[in-house]
Amino acid sequence: MSAECVFCRIASGEIPAERVYEDDGVIAIRDINPQAPVHLLLIPRRHIASLAGVTPADRDLLGALMLLAAALAEREGVRGRGFRLVMNSGAEGGQTVPHLHLHLLGGRAMGWPPG
Ligand code: AMP
Ligand code: ZN
Repeated sequence: MSAECVFCRIASGEIPAERVYEDDGVIAIRDINPQAPVHLLLIPRRHIASLAGVTPADRDLLGALMLLAAALAEREGVRGRGFRLVMNSGAEGGQTVPHLHLHLLGGRAMGWPPG
């Protein structure tokens, strides 16, 4: 838990968010500034700054994020239509909140390449 970290504070309940899922290891919320009709953030409760900071000990957590993304895509009605997962890492990766999170975007056709 980092006292200055917005996602740690959301995970602890200190800052409100629209939660769509939670378990012991992960929460999922709706993005406050959605970039698609469906835009969820899957956030580990434990503070990990970015994908650049993971180790082999995080294998199960990272696998759980992917499986949860597929399950939430189903619940949000986009699993069959198609959806996109994005994990920005570091400054040039476009990461703005330095607590690892997976974006789940869907409900519209995505472009490629991303910006
Ligand atoms: P990234 O740029 O990949 O680090 O993504 C950070 C995301 O967090 C952005 O899409 C923001 O809109 C979102 N965000 C920031 N603060 C909040 C908040 N308090 N509640 C929900 N989403 C947030
Ligand atoms: Zn954090």
